[in-house]
Amino acid sequence: MPQDNWLNKAELTKMHKEHLWLHLTNHKIFEQQEPQIMVKGKGCYVKDIDGNEYLDALSGGVWCVNVGYGREKIAKAVYEQLIELAYYAGTAATPPYIMLATKLASLTGLPKAFFSNSGSEANEKAFKMARQYFHKKYPGKNKYKIVYRYRDYHGTTFAAMSATGQPERRLGYEPLLEGFVEIPHALCYRCHFNKTYPSCDIDCARALEDLIKKETPEAIAAVIVEPITAGGGIIPPVAEYYQVLQEICKKYEILLIMDEVVNGFGRTGKMFGHQHYNVEPDMITMAKGIASSYIPLSATMASQEIFDEFVVDLSDKLGYFRDISTYGGCTAAFAAALENIKIIEEENLVENSAKMGEYLLGELKELESLPMVGEVRGKGLFAGIEIVSDKKTKEPASEDYVARIVAEVKKQGVLIGKMNRSIPSLNNVLTMAPPLIINKDEVNRIVTAIRNALEKVK
Ligand code: PMP
Repeated sequence: MPQDNWLNKAELTKMHKEHLWLHLTNHKIFEQQEPQIMVKGKGCYVKDIDGNEYLDALSGGVWCVNVGYGREKIAKAVYEQLIELAYYAGTAATPPYIMLATKLASLTGLPKAFFSNSGSEANEKAFKMARQYFHKKYPGKNKYKIVYRYRDYHGTTFAAMSATGQPERRLGYEPLLEGFVEIPHALCYRCHFNKTYPSCDIDCARALEDLIKKETPEAIAAVIVEPITAGGGIIPPVAEYYQVLQEICKKYEILLIMDEVVNGFGRTGKMFGHQHYNVEPDMITMAKGIASSYIPLSATMASQEIFDEFVVDLSDKLGYFRDISTYGGCTAAFAAALENIKIIEEENLVENSAKMGEYLLGELKELESLPMVGEVRGKGLFAGIEIVSDKKTKEPASEDYVARIVAEVKKQGVLIGKMNRSIPSLNNVLTMAPPLIINKDEVNRIVTAIRNALEKVK
């Protein structure tokens, strides 16, 4: 929509206050401050309605505009596909549908792609596939439970929320679904077992086996993890973690699902986050970076073995995968994703993410000498800074203090984030996930703004 057609700021602000219900927002704040209205994006930068320009180190607020703003090639691909064939249901093939499935298979090593609209939905499909797969394979055995990790986030729909290990995200929505069970997180800085790597023997991964024995091995269908936890505090597990987890999964015939919704498409310096580890997932879910969020799209990738269980004779009572998502057939979304992946490959953005990410992490690590910086963590262009009020006890800094740091960084023209009241002790992590096109000068700008804010805010 061209800016000339927009109403003026006063009118938009009035309508915003009267009608908009913002995501993840307590509207009480608008008793004290004006809502921000974003109007333009180009490269790594966004502009608000007052003309303030920000270096967006959050890639659209939720780590998803991987190729940066203003990509005409993606817009053109969407436009051309809309003219050619705007839509046809996912029950029938279209060229971009076939081509994207093929591309994702070559990138992941998993041959089958099932499309939907959001990360939550991609995870729902994975859970449904896992459950039906085992109901079909072992009729009457009730192998249906899903294991998730404390601190991991998998979405907002009921099953995805039931698999999310962040208590505050569930508060008020109970009862949750039955059949979702939790294991500890993999964050060494706050080790659940008060141990130290490597003498810990990766007990956080081995906790899966303890849980399996408690639940009885037959009960568990799948384990879902974010390769590098995002919203739970930017947590890259140690090198052997996923190998241990996968060995246990194999021993008990449990499917391993990697939620690559945030990690995927270059964010961590590899095309997919799990590729940093020696692990072969049975399913991979993806969204956000698949089309750099220019258009909604998600996918659930599955192994041939899983897929084959759903190719059935008509006499098979449990049948095939009887699932459909209207917009999982959006041809323009497939076209956008294909163009987006082409850009990532042609511009070597995964390599840039690895290179700039290493530089960013190195510069941020210097901040660990400051009294309020507990730990800097990350991989690729995905970084977190744990802010503490006491370095020895690791007492998390107050939410208000961390919010004031974020506000000060913003005053300096840089947008970073903080965890958003999911787990109280996690509101103390500053987060960064800039577009993968970022250069060294822009990384320096982010680090300088954070250093200045840490030194200024009391
Ligand atoms: N998985 C992860 C790891 C996420 O971070 C998110 C969203 N931030 C989701 C799933 C859910 O995605 P969506 O908001 O598209 O439903």
